[in-house]
Amino acid sequence: MVALLFPRECAICGEALADGEEGICSKCRFRIPMTGFAEMECNPMIERLSAQVPIEHASALFFFVAESNWRKVIHDFKYHGRWAYARKLGRWFGHILKRSGNYENIDLVVPVPLHLRKRIHRGYNQSDYIADGIASVLGTKVAHHALARLVNNESQTHHQRNERWKNVDGIFRVRGAEQLAGRHILLVDDVFTTGATIISCCDAILAECKDVKISVVTLAVSQKEFGFDRF
Ligand SMILES: [Zn+2]
Repeated sequence: MVALLFPRECAICGEALADGEEGICSKCRFRIPMTGFAEMECNPMIERLSAQVPIEHASALFFFVAESNWRKVIHDFKYHGRWAYARKLGRWFGHILKRSGNYENIDLVVPVPLHLRKRIHRGYNQSDYIADGIASVLGTKVAHHALARLVNNESQTHHQRNERWKNVDGIFRVRGAEQLAGRHILLVDDVFTTGATIISCCDAILAECKDVKISVVTLAVSQKEFGFDRF
């Protein structure tokens, strides 16, 4: 049972894990197309988001590269029940965030929710596990139910960009405004593409909660979206 839930093989290359290795082998950890965004004072995610909403900091762990195994691992924990990978990657990212010094005063970690229907269908929200992994390293709590997604709008890929922005307007609601008020919130999602989903979340939080600061992290960021093509 344990072996089924936590297979002793690397999530990326499929090779057997050595003792002491967790989820991803050292070779793959060395080769990850890391963004380095967490340490940067300014980066493309911060630029993209702060043009729309006030944010403290933003970063992603790695680039979401087409046809790479790093793309596959996201699909595995999203669609194939491998949620344990999401938590492990979250812990790894948590250490990088902590070391960077840019996430020192986070009060609360808030995962971007799925629409209830999708959550029930999948059985879990992968961002909950990423958030758990990050929070366990930062030593903060996770507010799993602070936000609700009112519209099931994840299939945005068929829309043109303008429609995508419209499509996410007002799709989130804050459930416990008092637990977020006065806090520095770390919003957590799995993949950052246009940023439209995150901006919609920020809009809802800023409209309903007093005195909040928001930082944003995602495990992956679309390489194509930002025009990086070196990996
Ligand atoms: Zn590997």
